[in-house]
Amino acid sequence: MSSPSPTSSFRRLLTIDDFEIGRPLGKGKFGNVYLARLKKSHFIVALKVLFKSQIEKEGLEHQLRREVEIQAHLQHPNILRLYNYFHDARRIYLVLEYAPRGELYKELQRNSTLDEQCTATIMEELADALTYCHSKKVIHRDIKPENLLLGLRGEVKIADFGWSVHTLSLRRRTMCGTLDYLPPEMIEGKTYDEKVDLWCIGVLCYELLVGNPPFESSSHNETYRRIVKVDVRYPLSLPVGAQDLISKLLRYHPSERLTLAQIQKHPWVKTHSRRVIPPCGQMTS
Ligand code: AMP
Repeated sequence: MSSPSPTSSFRRLLTIDDFEIGRPLGKGKFGNVYLARLKKSHFIVALKVLFKSQIEKEGLEHQLRREVEIQAHLQHPNILRLYNYFHDARRIYLVLEYAPRGELYKELQRNSTLDEQCTATIMEELADALTYCHSKKVIHRDIKPENLLLGLRGEVKIADFGWSVHTLSLRRRTMCGTLDYLPPEMIEGKTYDEKVDLWCIGVLCYELLVGNPPFESSSHNETYRRIVKVDVRYPLSLPVGAQDLISKLLRYHPSERLTLAQIQKHPWVKTHSRRVIPPCGQMTS
C-alpha cells in the first residue's frame, strides 16, 4: 500500500503511536484485530493489523487495495465504517468501526437459528445497505454470516469487502464468493450483475431461520448441481411468509428475483422487522 488513495491526503496521517491497544477481538487469515482507542480523543475503534509479507506472498495487494478503497467511501449505518488506514515497514493498519456484539456467525452457532424478528430485521437492514451499495455501483458478492458483524443494538454491519467490486458497467465474469452462497450465474461462468446479492440474501434468510444453508450437500459437485437446479427443500417449520420471500429471491433467472425495494415492502418483513437506525459515529483523532 505505498500510494494512498486521493482522499487520504485530506485525512490526518496516523501512526500506531496514536493508539492505546486493548484486547484482541479476533484472528483473521492475515493478522489480528484489536480493540483500540485513540489517545487524544478516546474514540474507540477496531484496529486490524495485516502483515505485508503475508499479503504479498498470497498476491493479494490488489484485492486489499480495492477492498480498502471501496469501504473507505461507504457511509451507511449497516456497513462497517473504515475510518482510516496507514502502514509501517511491515504492517498495514485498518482503522475500523468497532462492532461490540461481534459476528453474526457466532450468534448463529450459539443459538443454531434466529427468530423471525431478528431475521426480518436483518433482511430489511441488508436491503437498505445494498440499495446504497448498488447506487454507488458496488456489488458485495459475498454476503454470508461470517461477513456480518453486529452493532451495539444488534444491528447488522456488512464487513469484509474483500470480494466486492466497483464496476461502472455493473456486469462481471469473475468467479468468487463462498460455495453455499454462490448464485447459479456465477457457477455457470455467465456475466452477472448486482442481482447476485439478491440470491445471497435469499440464502442467508434461509440459513438464519433453518440453521443450515439451503443447498448444503456432502460434496462440492452436489452443491453446485443443487444450486443450478434451484433444488430447495422448505422445512414445515419455516413460516409461510418467510418461505414466500425466500422463494422469490432464489430464482434461477436474476431478472425474476425480488428487488431490494420489494424486499423492504414484503409483508413478512414489514410484520416482523424491528429496525432502528443507529446514529453514525464520526472518528475524531
Ligand atoms: P477478520 O480478519 O476480518 O476475519 O477478523 C477476525 C475476527 O475479528 C472476526 O472474526 C471478528 O470476530 C473480529 N472482528 C473483526 N473486525 C471487527 C470489528 N470491527 N469489531 C469487532 N470485532 C471484529
